[in-house]
Amino acid sequence: MKRITILGSTGSIGCSALDVIGKNPERFQVVALAAGKNVGLLKKQIEKFKPKVVAVSTKETALKLRDSLTNKDKVKIFYNKEGLQEVASLPSADIVISAISGSAGLMPTLAAIEAGKDVALANKETMVMAGEIVTKRAIKKMVKIIPVDSEHSAIFQCLEGHKRENLKRIILTASGGPFLNFTKNELKHVSLRQTLRHPNWKMGKKVTIDSASMMNKGLEVIEAKWFFNLDINCIDVLIHPQSVVHSMIEFIDGAFLAQMGIPNMKVPIAYALTYPERIVNDLPSLNLEKTGNLEFHNPDVKKFPCLSLAYAAGRCGGTAPVVLNAADEVAVSAFMEKKIGFIDLPKIVETVLGLHNSINNPSLDDILQADLWARRETSKIIERIM
Ligand code: NDP
Repeated sequence: MKRITILGSTGSIGCSALDVIGKNPERFQVVALAAGKNVGLLKKQIEKFKPKVVAVSTKETALKLRDSLTNKDKVKIFYNKEGLQEVASLPSADIVISAISGSAGLMPTLAAIEAGKDVALANKETMVMAGEIVTKRAIKKMVKIIPVDSEHSAIFQCLEGHKRENLKRIILTASGGPFLNFTKNELKHVSLRQTLRHPNWKMGKKVTIDSASMMNKGLEVIEAKWFFNLDINCIDVLIHPQSVVHSMIEFIDGAFLAQMGIPNMKVPIAYALTYPERIVNDLPSLNLEKTGNLEFHNPDVKKFPCLSLAYAAGRCGGTAPVVLNAADEVAVSAFMEKKIGFIDLPKIVETVLGLHNSINNPSLDDILQADLWARRETSKIIERIM
């Protein structure tokens, strides 16, 4: 029986993880859940999975949640950042699923590592912002960080049982998102609704918008650098609209390995929870006869400059990826509030990156300061262009 804490239980990944857990009650037990503000859904999850401890983002939400529960005394409710970290480091958990969206996921993930928990990592911002610190602390605490992101899970699976010195490069695949075949001019007029319509994956809003702008792939490149300890020049991206090949590796002798399957996050989530074992699921099998041709081509970075910006920030290192991530988070929020257009996203991120003096080998405090600085600068720029 594996005892699990889920950070971000009310989100897309959190719900998929609970589905996997619910279908395997003999293997998994939920000991704690953490979410932001979705009291209605969290209440249902508490009633079904009976965690002893939960955390929400504010005191007000905690009070609302307490009022809504019938068995109030059976669950301890924490709140605020401190509460989130408390839940992340709960002694009774064996593994923590880190699936909060955005930079809010960093500190609780670090808390879980400090407490010696294995981490199933979906929150890519953790590696983007503090990959070096996170990977070093995981080694020191002898905890495993297992990727949940489908591309990283694919690479992780391809690398299993192979000598690292034989690896030449990795190739992350990208669906290309809803605007793959749009012209630069057409991108000027796309709406929020169109942007949120991903062709292959059902995900939270932030990551869906990032998929449309290719920032998601850029963040994944930086995430992969830390996950697999690679030079960024050994990480390539190919557009693969069918989302059947989740990613590939190439060895020094020219042999490729690819991991394939239907686009459903429950597969990499289950693998992260059971690694190195695999379990049966009730999902449809990949039907290659029906899939038809599998296409691969280079991304158009002129149309989707976010990918180049992420490569540049990843190459620069230091606090540049922190600033890239924070500027994107603020810009995407502004896009969701319809304050800016889709094509403003890369322009804003580029401007903020241009204003930043990156700090090499940043401490955690440097990282948090750079994140705050970038948020302030991005907000100022957005106010000016509105
Ligand atoms: P969602 O937006 O669907 O869910 C986000 C979750 O985080 C919700 O439970 C939300 O709570 C919670 N949350 C947000 N802010 C806070 C906060 N300050 N304190 C506590 N909880 C908070 O996101 P996804 O599930 O799509 O993505 C989660 C992470 O996984 C992201 O980093 C994403 O990049 C990554 N990822 C997602 C994939 C996917 O298929 N969705 C694939 C690969 C990676 P509430 O809703 O209650 O406010």
